[in-house]
Amino acid sequence: MKMDKVLGKLGIEKVNEGAATGAEWLKAKGEKIESFSPVDGKKIAAVTTVTRETYDAVIDKAQQAFAEWRMWPAPKRGEVVRQVGEALRKYKEPLGKLVSYEMGKSLQEGYGEVQEMIDICDYAVGLSRQLYGLTMHSERPLHRMYEQWHPLGVVGVISAFNFPVAVWSWNSMIAFVCGNTCVWKPSEKTPLSAIACQNIIATVFKANNVPEGVCGLVVGGRDTGEWMSSDTRVPLVSATGSTRMGKAVGATVAARLGRSLLELGGNNAIIVSEHADLNIALRAAIFGAVGTAGQRCTTTRRLMIHSSVYDAFKKKLVAAYKQLVIGDPLDENTHVGPLIDKDAVAAYTNAIAQVKKAGGKAVVAGGVLEGEGYESGCYVKPCIFEVQNDWEVVQHETFAPILYIMKFDVLQDAIAMQNNVPQGLSSSIMTLNMRESELFLSHAGSDCGIANVNIGTSGAEIGGAFGGEKETGGGRESGSDSWKAYMRRQTNTINWSDQLPLAQGIKFSV
Ligand code: NAD
Repeated sequence: MKMDKVLGKLGIEKVNEGAATGAEWLKAKGEKIESFSPVDGKKIAAVTTVTRETYDAVIDKAQQAFAEWRMWPAPKRGEVVRQVGEALRKYKEPLGKLVSYEMGKSLQEGYGEVQEMIDICDYAVGLSRQLYGLTMHSERPLHRMYEQWHPLGVVGVISAFNFPVAVWSWNSMIAFVCGNTCVWKPSEKTPLSAIACQNIIATVFKANNVPEGVCGLVVGGRDTGEWMSSDTRVPLVSATGSTRMGKAVGATVAARLGRSLLELGGNNAIIVSEHADLNIALRAAIFGAVGTAGQRCTTTRRLMIHSSVYDAFKKKLVAAYKQLVIGDPLDENTHVGPLIDKDAVAAYTNAIAQVKKAGGKAVVAGGVLEGEGYESGCYVKPCIFEVQNDWEVVQHETFAPILYIMKFDVLQDAIAMQNNVPQGLSSSIMTLNMRESELFLSHAGSDCGIANVNIGTSGAEIGGAFGGEKETGGGRESGSDSWKAYMRRQTNTINWSDQLPLAQGIKFSV
């Protein structure tokens, strides 16, 4: 593939400024970060990160723009977002390719990620004609009581490397129709994908005379995220990433009584019951465990398999793992691409060492791949281990294709195992037995934000609220009524009588 052509189409240069207030790029003035592709280890381009001064300038502009943007009728904001969706359709191919090349996910997943952005635009357009509040009956005569939702102001979006563009759109497209301005701090591991998005959205915003400042970008590392978390000009910080990061952001934002929306790590399990369709279970488990090289927050990390089907299912897993093609994610025949960088490879080998030390038995052995096609040093073998659920390493999310398998006899025990981890993002059960699936979905069942039946743990649709419990952070994004997180609720009571009756029948005469 001609990557130069792709970069050219997306307006990426050799060295890019990492600060924008919209269509205008500022001199970012900070250190340069170079983006290397995990696919072939080649340098793609560089980005200048922001200093505190440039960061402040972008936030100031976003604050100023809010005063104007909030006065646009929501459906008019929706119309601009509709056009962003159209522009993304136009740029789906180059943007999908860049995402795949910079992050290392398969080309199909790169396109799929851009499709999610398009879908959220469509969703946000419809939403812009709703954003509804309730009306309630007042206890006072000739009074009307209702609630309405107002925008918050500047929304800070901190995103992770594994969904380098979609997470931004899940947050900002909804935040925009709600009347907020957004400043995005993308992952420092995928800054070019962010710059490409900024170029696309800025063109649409400019053509519609959207005030400069409504969509800002600040490229930087952890320190930039820390500035954002402690910044009282940013009423909402939506942060996606590791639990370690979320605990830091959550504490800093809470200390100033701001709002945070946290989308953090998962430790997702599939329960394979004795009543499962094993072929469906197999496909779901494999896609869930090795898709995106195990670097999805919803990746399947644990399998609890009923003892009566354990050996048969294990055999199927081993046979299927033998078929996996590991290599260039831009090649359509590849199933498993690289990890994001060598630190991720080190985390993978370290986790395997820990599993072995704890007594884990390899069902499919792991290892780092070397030689032709693997020059970047980021390619690893998906592996499977037999483990105990309470081992430290099993309780922890390792962002790599390591699958842990366990045996159970009674469904309640499997549900307890599935719940007995610090995280609570996604879960599923494979069963054709209605009592089992209902138990799993009941309040005595899965404690996760997502619970599925006969589909795997990954691949959520944008129409539903996305997020998880416990150390996953409790935030919800995307569909259902997640938009409420980006707005403030106001209760209004209007007296249209010629009296002033007080609530609770209180008498007060002067
Ligand atoms: P990460 O936590 O290392 O970084 C995420 C972002 O947070 C980056 O932009 C980083 O610069 C910033 N950051 C790091 N420390 C910070 C701090 N103290 N204050 C402010 N900002 C800080 O995560 P990653 O390696 O990029 O992504 C992988 C993780 O993200 C996994 O744990 C995965 O499960 C999680 N994730 C969760 C979801 C979800 O929706 N639940 C989605 C995608 C990824």
